[in-house]
Amino acid sequence: MTALLSRAASPASGLVCRNCGATYPLGAQHACFECFGPLEIGYDAEALARVTRAEIEAGPQSIWRYAGLLPVGQNEQTRVESNTGMTPLIRADRLGAALGFTAPLWVKDDSANPTHSFKDRVVSVAMTAARELGFTRIACASTGNLANSVAAHAARIGMDSIVFIPSDLEPAKIVQSSIYGTTLVGIQGSYDDVNRLCSELSETDEFEATGFVNVNVRPYYAEGSKTLGFEVAEQLGWRIPPQIVAPMASGSLLTKVNKAFKELVAAGLVDASSWKVFGAQSAGCSPIATAFAEGKDVITPVKPTGIAKSLNIGNPADGPYALDVVRTTGGAMASVDDDEIRAGIRLLASTTGVFAETAGGVTVAVLKKLVESGQLDPSVETVIYNTGDGLKTIDAVADGAGPTAVIPATVKGMREAGLM
Ligand SMILES: *Cc1c(COP(=O)(O)O)cnc(C)c1O
Ligand SMILES: [Zn+2]
Repeated sequence: MTALLSRAASPASGLVCRNCGATYPLGAQHACFECFGPLEIGYDAEALARVTRAEIEAGPQSIWRYAGLLPVGQNEQTRVESNTGMTPLIRADRLGAALGFTAPLWVKDDSANPTHSFKDRVVSVAMTAARELGFTRIACASTGNLANSVAAHAARIGMDSIVFIPSDLEPAKIVQSSIYGTTLVGIQGSYDDVNRLCSELSETDEFEATGFVNVNVRPYYAEGSKTLGFEVAEQLGWRIPPQIVAPMASGSLLTKVNKAFKELVAAGLVDASSWKVFGAQSAGCSPIATAFAEGKDVITPVKPTGIAKSLNIGNPADGPYALDVVRTTGGAMASVDDDEIRAGIRLLASTTGVFAETAGGVTVAVLKKLVESGQLDPSVETVIYNTGDGLKTIDAVADGAGPTAVIPATVKGMREAGLM
């Protein structure tokens, strides 16, 4: 009985301000009362150290195998299981050869999640927390993929949902959100406008019972991204890759993969090693990469443009923390324009058989740029993150992607088209 109870206990110890270090009890709070800084989940080091590889390996084929390293979901009855995670880690030898790699290059393909982006990870954790915290409706401010995932998870568990998106998103992302049966609100404005509205709504009486996964439940949401770090380490045979490249919107994913690596070392689940974290943005919205290039600590917000809409956050909440992670690990950041993004999508597809959305094109194109500029060493093993599916942003590469020839159903037709 005691063992069962202790296994079901959360290893989280409280909320910690990332700015001033003030601590608060666990709950639906996202900003520090002292300094308004963002809060993150703090853990009991001894509880993390009790987690074993064997326990994880015997767990479900989903992110919940890492429940011992997450703030919620220890109890199978309350966790929101959407069969997310354990996505393929693909050895991308042909992409590596095209870019001059002599060390292994891997693609962590998170388009293989249930709603075809990495957002299923953060939503599974945030919705489990929202349910445990007593919220009866779920909501989000989204650049597209988050809306898809929140709507799908809400359908799975039968929870009321309302999702907010900029009204000019890719048609596939609008259709996908709507098909799950959510209340879908298109906002005439940018993601940053959507996010501001959601912050305001979360303070109103009418939204008191509503958990906004990336606003008032954000500390829990963010922890879901750690599973992208845990899985890669486990899939490599319990070791941390020496170089990783990740796309950045708010910068949360990148910082949490780094947090995951640190927690794995602290928990004794992997040997201590050093690793470099590299960040990728699109030139249409590169406030973090621009601050990196200019050697600044402060992010200057921008008005996003360009085809990588899922990354279009002009005022990135985790920007300063992403800068810090990349600088302290000795990595780098770069941004790429829309033509380079399209070329990145085509290069990954034609060398690896993985069709990425524009965010994946950003990551591949930035990898190429960093190798060419000498900032990323192709003789060192590298993992890049593909965070979304190309079928969601098909218009980006539709030009010139038609049939090689359209012919009658005859051998003569084949001959005349020069195909045999
Ligand atoms: C949301 C998203 C990201 C990155 O999000 P962060 O805000 O930086 O955590 C990356 N790729 C895709 C496809 C996304 O939808
Ligand atoms: Zn603070």
